[in-house]
Amino acid sequence: MEALRSQLSLRARRLVVKVGSGVLSAGSERLDLRTIRRLARELAGLKAEGREILLVSSGAILAGSERLALKARPASIELKQAAAAVGQSRLMRAWEEAFDKEGLAVAQVLLTREDLRDRRRYLNARNTASALLRLGVVPVINENDTVAVEEIRFGDNDVLSALAASLVGADLLVLLTDQDGLYDRDPRGDDRARLIPVVGSEKVQASTGRAGPRGTGGMESKVSAARMASSAGI
Ligand code: GLU
Repeated sequence: MEALRSQLSLRARRLVVKVGSGVLSAGSERLDLRTIRRLARELAGLKAEGREILLVSSGAILAGSERLALKARPASIELKQAAAAVGQSRLMRAWEEAFDKEGLAVAQVLLTREDLRDRRRYLNARNTASALLRLGVVPVINENDTVAVEEIRFGDNDVLSALAASLVGADLLVLLTDQDGLYDRDPRGDDRARLIPVVGSEKVQASTGRAGPRGTGGMESKVSAARMASSAGI
């Protein structure tokens, strides 16, 4: 199974890679620019191998909270939306600067689930994504937090990344987290936790993995995103 997994990743030509706020903060209260640069370098490396990359990036609320000097992650939905509106341009600037260094252009793509439910908008989004990939651009996707709140409430873009992967017919969806993978129980503070390297069609119990302090996803929404993607053949 492990061998099958690495074979599949090697063969994948079109990849959607999702990074959440937990990864992008690297344990701090702000966007960690070193992490962003390192990721941009690694993704540029994959691109140089002839793969196409779409990035799904959270971190707008994080960057906005930093700019507004909020002491903690905002609690109300409106404040989260406001922080995201402030932070989105800062987030994009960070990605743009990092990818510029690799000689790659980025594009800001803000989506909502509603956009992908509506046939016409779905097709418009798909056409734009294909054109961007043809141009060699790295689309950086986030939820449009001003008009939608689903991902802020439940998923830190996990589900959005599965929808984006199926929108573009990706071969592989990679959900990066600050954990080594899926465990049979929450590894933070429980050393009996064992890593589950590969999940087949069996039911997995992932209700233990709540989100960290800076994200909203946790393992549960990652498992649902993985299920959604695999049922679309990804
Ligand atoms: N779209 C939000 C952001 O970029 C989702 C992250 C979250 O819920 O923490 O900040």
